[in-house]
Amino acid sequence: MNYDVVIVGKGPAGISAALYLARAKYGTAVLGKDFGALTKAEGIENFYGLEKPLSGIELAERGIRQAENLGIPVIASEVVGIEQIFSDSPGADTGVQSAKTARFKLLTSDKREFFARTVLLATGKQRVGLPVPGFTEYQGRGISFCAVCDGFFYRNKKIGVVGNGFYAAAELNHLYTLTKDITLFTNGLELDSGVQEVLPQDIAIVKDKIQAIEGGASHAGNADGVQTGETVQAGGPIGAVKTSGGTYDVQGLFIALGTAGAADFAAKLGVQTGSGADAGTLIVNERFQTNLPGLYAAGDAAGGYLQIAKAVSDGAHAAKFIIQELRR
Ligand SMILES: Cc1cc2nc3c(=O)[nH]c(=O)nc-3n(C[C@H](O)[C@H](O)[C@H](O)COP(=O)(O)OP(=O)(O)OC[C@H]3O[C@@H](n4cnc5c(N)ncnc54)[C@H](O)[C@@H]3O)c2cc1C
Repeated sequence: MNYDVVIVGKGPAGISAALYLARAKYGTAVLGKDFGALTKAEGIENFYGLEKPLSGIELAERGIRQAENLGIPVIASEVVGIEQIFSDSPGADTGVQSAKTARFKLLTSDKREFFARTVLLATGKQRVGLPVPGFTEYQGRGISFCAVCDGFFYRNKKIGVVGNGFYAAAELNHLYTLTKDITLFTNGLELDSGVQEVLPQDIAIVKDKIQAIEGGASHAGNADGVQTGETVQAGGPIGAVKTSGGTYDVQGLFIALGTAGAADFAAKLGVQTGSGADAGTLIVNERFQTNLPGLYAAGDAAGGYLQIAKAVSDGAHAAKFIIQELRR
């Protein structure tokens, strides 16, 4: 399917942007997995126009209905990959303006492909990580968040992937082209429905809870100056994953918890991300553009004040600047 704009995220930022884009007659689709941060918000009282507290889910459902009433496809789907492409596309399926050249391809967990001239990431802010000893210490020393970026360093190595959903499966399947010695750590969870079917048959799956990440003597391939079998000094690479059921040697560990968020897509596309309180969010300019032409971010995904009012405002502004770009 071809669109002028594909928006990832059906929360306040994504839906707000979609309303402006569709009214300007641009072919727009919204791909969203769930209700994002609003799922957990019991009662919203501080957003304009709410006479009485409204649950986050009810607010999200209202927004989605509003978009659908305008004819915007709001597609329940999880995006597992975004690629930059440079190919002529046959034209948008919807909207008056035609997408002549798609710059991005989006792949979903149910193996659908969407093509877009511009992409708006409105994926909210991810709050995932592994709160276990060693996790922070070994980031960049064997722990990676990006199979496409770092997988090459682990050709024919013994590695692990952490996650239980389609995003983890997508990362693992990429890594499987580089090494067959992969253990999937679900960190105490069952695999999401349908994930087992898309995994290679011969990988090991460990469902015990992860308790710690430990150093080891193995060479991970991108850790400075440490060769296979050497005694590891302080600052050496990752060596093992300790779980409630045992300890497993690994030379690299790829984190793919939950759903791929803005930071995961950014890592693969070479997009700049924030630091400190804005870690895991995308750096955008005053036009909500990232450093990658055609890729925009809004709402919690762009950091700052994590509130609905700001997300809605971001979405409206991002739409305005996307429209300006598409008109050019
Ligand atoms: C418990 C709680 C209470 C809150 N209470 C308030 C409050 O009272 N007032 C207030 O103003 N704010 C409140 N907030 C904050 C508010 O919910 C967020 O600031 C707001 O929802 C951000 O909107 P967003 O569109 O940027 O992201 P989100 O609302 O988080 O939406 C993100 C969207 O992206 C989708 N998505 C993410 N990754 C993918 C993927 N890979 N593929 C497909 N879809 C994807 C999600 O499914 C979701 O649809 C609260 C937040 C929490 C957690």
